[in-house]
Amino acid sequence: MPKEKKTDNLPTARPFLPARPGLQNLSEAAESCRGCDLFERATQTVFGEGPDSAVMVLIGEQPGDQEDQNGRPFVGPAGRLLDRALAEAGIPRDQVYVTNAVKHFKWVSRGKRRLHDKPRRSEILACRPWLEAEISTIRPQIVVCLGATAAQSLLGTSFKITHERGKVLKTEWAPLLLATIHPSALLRITDENERRQGFADFVADLKKAAAAITRSSPALPHRA
Ligand code: SF4
Repeated sequence: MPKEKKTDNLPTARPFLPARPGLQNLSEAAESCRGCDLFERATQTVFGEGPDSAVMVLIGEQPGDQEDQNGRPFVGPAGRLLDRALAEAGIPRDQVYVTNAVKHFKWVSRGKRRLHDKPRRSEILACRPWLEAEISTIRPQIVVCLGATAAQSLLGTSFKITHERGKVLKTEWAPLLLATIHPSALLRITDENERRQGFADFVADLKKAAAAITRSSPALPHRA
C-alpha cells in the first residue's frame, strides 16, 4: 500500500488512527479526528459506509451539505444519482462500500446556503490515512474513483481523468482501479440531452468496473 512521504510539518490524520483495525474502530476514531482544520466548520465526520466484505469501493471527493448534516456519505442529490446509476449498472448499492477522500465538509457561505469548496491538496493528503485504512481493511477487488480528487488522492496530481477515464488499471491500491466522473458533475449539466448522455456514459463506466471484477473473480453479486 503506497504511503505519502513523511512530513513532520504538514497536517495528517495519522495520529488519530486506532491501533486495532476494523471498520467500526476506524469510523469511531474518525469522529474525533483533528488531523487538519476542516473539522472546525463541519457538523461531524462523514466516514465510509458499507460491508467490510465489499468487492467494490467507490470513492468520492468530500461530503456535501446533506451528508454533513446526516453523517452519512452519498445521501444528497449526487448520492441519489449514484444510487440510480448503480441500479442501472446492476450493482447492488448495499453491497459496495462508499466513502470520500476527505471526511469533513468544506464549504463557503453564500447567504444562507453552504456551498461546496474544493479541498486543498494538503487537506486531501491529511485525510488519506483514513482512506488507506478503509481500503486495506476491506481489500476490495476494485476501487472506483469518482472524480479527480479521489483519483489524485490515490494516484497523484499527474493523474488526469480526462485521459484515464473508464480504463481498468492495475495499481498498488487494489487489483483493479477505474476512475470516472463524480456524479455531481452530471448535476451541473444544464442541457437535458447532454445530461442524459453523461448519465449513460457514467453507467457504462460502472458496468465496466463490475465486468472487470466478474472477469477476475465472480464475487460481485448482481440483482436477478
Ligand atoms: S478532513 Fe480528514 S484529516 Fe481533516 S479533520 Fe477531517 S477526518 Fe481529519
